[in-house]
Amino acid sequence: MEKRVLVLNLDHSPVAVVSPQKAIVLLLLEKANCLSVYDLLQIRTVSRSFAYPAVICLNHYKNIPYRGVLLNRVNLFRRDRGECQYCGSKKQLTIDHVVPRSKGGKSNWTNLTTACHRCNVLKGDKTPEQVGLTMQTKPFKPSLAYFLSEYAERQAEEWLPFLNGKVENLKFEV
Ligand SMILES: [Zn+2]
Repeated sequence: MEKRVLVLNLDHSPVAVVSPQKAIVLLLLEKANCLSVYDLLQIRTVSRSFAYPAVICLNHYKNIPYRGVLLNRVNLFRRDRGECQYCGSKKQLTIDHVVPRSKGGKSNWTNLTTACHRCNVLKGDKTPEQVGLTMQTKPFKPSLAYFLSEYAERQAEEWLPFLNGKVENLKFEV
């Protein structure tokens, strides 16, 4: 799987996660400097190869508008670590409205959860309490910092020194 590149602002606060191709372009245009590379990895083009950037830093301060984490299926499953929040199963995952839509439940971060097909069917049009299900984690609105540190722990340890202490103070927290 292709590794992603962490982009830091001039003040070293994380601003984005981009593809290595995008990072190389920023580096070639001298819009960013490379702070850390993935050892043993390279990016090849027809004519040359590059060190594979892990963390780059912009050369100019970029004003980042307030941004939230997009609510979609992939991000919801990622927030819930790919597990049914009722039974812990990782199979046949679906999206469940904790308070059912028929009872006024909204489609937002705090009412949507990851549920396996079995639990979703069992729950049907009821609340978890009504069918005796308990949730592992109460649905919450994740910050970009949450995703960054979770990704870094699994796939990009090279990012960790640059997230230390910064993750708590992201300016564009959700
Ligand atoms: Zn389940």
